[in-house]
Amino acid sequence: MQFYSTNDPDHRVGVKEAIFRGLPADNGLYMPERIDPLPDSFFRELPTLSFSEIGFRVARQLLGPEISDSDLRRIVEDAINFPAPVVALDEQKYILELFHGPSLAFKDFGARFMSRLMAYYNDDADRDLIILVATSGDTGGAVAAGFYDTPGIQVVILYPSGKVSDLQEKQLTTLGKNIHALEVSGTFDDCQAIVKRAFLDGDLRARLRLSSANSINISRLIPQTFYYFEAYKQLGEGDPVVFCVPSGNFGNLTAALIAKRLGLPIDHFIAATNDNDVVPRFLAEGQYRTRASVPTLSNAMDVGAPSNFARMTNLYGHIVGVDHPGEETHRSMREVISGYSYTDEVTEAAVKEVERNYGYTIDPHGAVGYLALKEWQKDHPATRGVILETAHPSKFKPDVERILGHEIPVPERLASLKDKEKVASQMGTAYEPVRKYLLDKFE
Ligand SMILES: *Cc1c(COP(=O)(O)O)cnc(C)c1O
Repeated sequence: MQFYSTNDPDHRVGVKEAIFRGLPADNGLYMPERIDPLPDSFFRELPTLSFSEIGFRVARQLLGPEISDSDLRRIVEDAINFPAPVVALDEQKYILELFHGPSLAFKDFGARFMSRLMAYYNDDADRDLIILVATSGDTGGAVAAGFYDTPGIQVVILYPSGKVSDLQEKQLTTLGKNIHALEVSGTFDDCQAIVKRAFLDGDLRARLRLSSANSINISRLIPQTFYYFEAYKQLGEGDPVVFCVPSGNFGNLTAALIAKRLGLPIDHFIAATNDNDVVPRFLAEGQYRTRASVPTLSNAMDVGAPSNFARMTNLYGHIVGVDHPGEETHRSMREVISGYSYTDEVTEAAVKEVERNYGYTIDPHGAVGYLALKEWQKDHPATRGVILETAHPSKFKPDVERILGHEIPVPERLASLKDKEKVASQMGTAYEPVRKYLLDKFE
């Protein structure tokens, strides 16, 4: 399979280059050159297929024949070693729990698959590949857990001191082995500036093999398509299914649209956001206006310029850039996607309502999805709506407990982090000490 840039359909690279480069030089995003529907036989067999078999067949369709069946199967089985169960709230509303991985959020699917694919293509036996990441919290945790103990790969994570939650810090700093944490006495932007300088440092790049684990890497989207098929399988026959996706950078929703292109029989999707509502606004008005993000309760969705928007418009016919997707693209997207946004106040009320009505503890991101599904189903009652629960509520324990007025249980894999010892190297905001750290450690 070749991958093209959303900014230039003639710019094409193979799987390996798309994964290691992350971003095309023209600042577009990689997309598979063909997204062909899976054969009828796949859909006939679907009710009997395991989650990892579904993942294998979908990955095969998106990656093409470059990787052998046995290798690809092994990669999928190793990466997706936890379930994605659908839980019914009632006959109309379902929750797709995507938090059963190591960092308790759906980003585990992408991070684990990317790490295995990178390890597979990492054919320089002499020198380790060094993944540099700046994180404001969640991405770093998923990347750390996803790459933990991957042979031939070292991960260096820069995070802003005092600006991530205690739990997030533990997820970054307690794994050890090939995961190295740098605690920067500055902001997330300082961390990102250091990482950028390292990538632009020709001398450093000649001496070390550097790569990124950027959230827009195409290898992170691929496994996110798997669980739409898995959820559809679990629901079985009945009323039409719609997926409601709490969104920030819109990777999850893009993966849903790719699943549809692969033949998943879903007519409609719901994009749910907090006050960072540029995509619902675009769907309503046809104008795409990015803005500075505003902080909210569902903070993993605080995005003012969603990075996957170019992929979504590209899927609906738009080719270059994202400034003016055009009427035709806008019209086609509106047919498939409804957008809604909600304030923190109604989101808090929704967390309480879901507990009261269904006895289910939902996190603030899922609660935004619940509100959107409820609103959409007013006009579409004979449907089964699936809300993606993107993280476990205990990841947002202080907020959820404040809203509900009682304690909530913490899964063992999170609770045990509390007693583990933090190991981090202290850094200022300057680039040179980080450069020296990298060379001393890895050259
Ligand atoms: C990253 C994240 C989101 C947003 O997902 P996108 O694919 O960027 O739209 C939503 N919820 C949680 C908990 C997340 O960590």
